[in-house]
Amino acid sequence: MNFVSVGLLLAVLPAFGGQQGASLAPIALYSQFQQEPPAGVLQAVREELSSIMAPMGLRFEWHALNAVRGQEVAVELAVITFKGRCDLNHLALHGTHSGPLGWTHISEGAILPFADIDCDGIRSFVQGGLLGVRAELREAMFGRALGRVLAHELYHIFANTQHHGSGVGKAAYTVANLLDENFQFDEKESAALLTSRTHELLTAAGEDSLR
Ligand SMILES: [Zn+2]
Repeated sequence: MNFVSVGLLLAVLPAFGGQQGASLAPIALYSQFQQEPPAGVLQAVREELSSIMAPMGLRFEWHALNAVRGQEVAVELAVITFKGRCDLNHLALHGTHSGPLGWTHISEGAILPFADIDCDGIRSFVQGGLLGVRAELREAMFGRALGRVLAHELYHIFANTQHHGSGVGKAAYTVANLLDENFQFDEKESAALLTSRTHELLTAAGEDSLR
């Protein structure tokens, strides 16, 4: 055990609630893309999701849905479908997108662990802003925006709530929410994740794996 890194980890955790210092079992994310994304976009999606969820101790293991053999075991999982093109070809100065950027499937009032992320819609929405930055920064910025929409949908799934707050869990994003340097869950949204059944199960499974 490296005490220096443990100290840093505790320092960045929020002061309220939660299983501080406990190592939670990872959540399995099964992803599929209608079109393969550029590596830089995909990396930024993963990094942003990790960074947004780290204060709650949530970690993710990514798997390609088409490589699933049916023998995988996960404490918690979600299936993510990225719709449209997740690349940056043919950017236009003025976006015309209105409507949802992502959505989570619900059946008879129950939230299901299936979410869709609309790459075409998100790109249309933020493309004017992306054209305002240097070309070599755009993939990372676009991936970060996709990661925020993904974190929003996973909040619905793992906090098991249809409610919205004022952070990453807010009902409607502005372009700035998607492109700014920093965007996080507010305190209520964080608490909902920290006190969720999912968090409890992942904590118990994490402790089991240490025995
Ligand atoms: Zn929502």
